[in-house]
Amino acid sequence: MAQLPILTFPDPRLRDVARPVDGVDADLRQLAADMAETMYAAKGIGLAATQVGVPKRVLVMDLSAERTELMTLINPQIVERDGVQVCEEGCLSVPEVFESVERAERVAVTYLNLDGDACRLEADGLLAVCVQHEIDHLDGKLFVDYLSRLKQDRLRKKAVKRQRDDVRP
Ligand code: ZN
Repeated sequence: MAQLPILTFPDPRLRDVARPVDGVDADLRQLAADMAETMYAAKGIGLAATQVGVPKRVLVMDLSAERTELMTLINPQIVERDGVQVCEEGCLSVPEVFESVERAERVAVTYLNLDGDACRLEADGLLAVCVQHEIDHLDGKLFVDYLSRLKQDRLRKKAVKRQRDDVRP
């Protein structure tokens, strides 16, 4: 296994729309394992392949306190959504930013698991927020896109400044 570098906003690769996976093979399982290792190392609850520069429709999540309930979703698709909730979100690709975002309260998601079996997830609460956030990544969307234009401009300037400071010797 290997940790993968996580792209950060405003990296243009975070805007790529990921392609569906045609088959679950050893390479895909390796990618999913590396993504899980990367997510755990970064102390995140979810990570989409787009965030590590791989434009494939794969995401990993683990919302458990013990970090023992890894979920891997391949080609996830929201097939039902219902209700509204507002939750404060953060993102491994947008460090140090936490903002409230409105999302569906409940969603049903179809996906393939690592054995290639068709599965269905019924999610509410934080799990529903997380899966919607990660599927957005696969569509090239970030949670900051839901904020006002003014806030987005401010975040972009801050991110560019931080990246400039990071490369300074
Ligand atoms: Zn994210």
